[in-house]
Amino acid sequence: MEQILAFCRPGFEAEAGQELVDSAMSAGLYGYFQPERDRGLVRFYLTGPEQAEALLDRVGIETLVFVRDWLIVLDTPELPPEDRVGAVIEALKTHRSAMPRCDRVEVRLLENNTDRDLGNFARKWVAPLSRGLRGAGLMDEPDSGASARLEIILPDFTQAIIGFSFAENRARYAGGIVRLRLPASAPSRSALKLEEAWKVFLPPERELDYIGGGKTAADLGAAPGGWTWQLVRQGMSVYAVDNGPMNADLMASGQVEHVRADGYSWRPHRGIDWMVCDIVDQPRKTAHLVVDWIGSGLCRYTVFNLKLPMKKRYEEWLICRDILVQGLKAAGIGYRLQARHLYHDREEITCFIERTG
Ligand code: SAM
Repeated sequence: MEQILAFCRPGFEAEAGQELVDSAMSAGLYGYFQPERDRGLVRFYLTGPEQAEALLDRVGIETLVFVRDWLIVLDTPELPPEDRVGAVIEALKTHRSAMPRCDRVEVRLLENNTDRDLGNFARKWVAPLSRGLRGAGLMDEPDSGASARLEIILPDFTQAIIGFSFAENRARYAGGIVRLRLPASAPSRSALKLEEAWKVFLPPERELDYIGGGKTAADLGAAPGGWTWQLVRQGMSVYAVDNGPMNADLMASGQVEHVRADGYSWRPHRGIDWMVCDIVDQPRKTAHLVVDWIGSGLCRYTVFNLKLPMKKRYEEWLICRDILVQGLKAAGIGYRLQARHLYHDREEITCFIERTG
């Protein structure tokens, strides 16, 4: 049976699995999943031949929310300490016909790996492993134009999960993990969420069109100011809407107007470029708020968080998505909507909408 390995935040394996079942079904494919609880992994089994590649052909990773990255599994060999490279080569030889051409190998650990020795080993292993794979004719020379990459997951020293991924349909960052450094001047760690959202949702070559050039923004639920700080860093003028106190250094920038008001009812006098919202409240309430802003042309772009409840998190997202899709349809506008359980998100997901017409 063919298998896809999906990566998600540890603890969200059931949501990622349900999402895979639904996405596959809407693409005419059937499968079931096995969550690897608290490891951030989901095994998704497809019931017919050549269906794993069909799924990756028909469903784009950018349409998934809880699944951060994925690959097609070829084998899961044991790794004897005396010859781990040899074990990978032997396993792959039996799958030659099922493998696309690959010109690189990526070795990854589980997101919650705490074994530093395993991390050091993985880094140093890539070079001898690559030599061995090329020597055995299992991998092309670097940058030879191959469409795929070999992927090896090391849950520990004794076993490997081997598979491959396609350049055009995998996360931009391996495992969907975007590692960012928090500058000392940032008022809160939340700042990283907005930075990651921009990295994930905006086309990299056009980032400046979206966030550069002195734009105007409103930050709803702004205090102490992590998101506002990101907006200011891009040269934006910002309405920071929150009854709570804003970071004093940030206010000294002169680019921020602190509006002490309810973020759900406050509106700007005229349309602005960005509305961002990090208020901890009912996700459906936030979805309705966004429909109003984008639908009535109050902003062109928005990034907002949907704080998910403890139970039925996937179902809650589907309800919110419906509110967004139906609401924007009723407003008669063109838009692009993407949502993702970001690496820096916890019990929440982050959404992006841009108005396109
Ligand atoms: N994004 C912020 C940052 O980067 O520092 C953190 C925001 S914090 C998670 C949520 C904020 O929403 C709190 O400061 C809280 O005062 C504010 N808040 C809660 N309900 C609100 C409402 N109805 N209107 C405006 N702000 C609200």
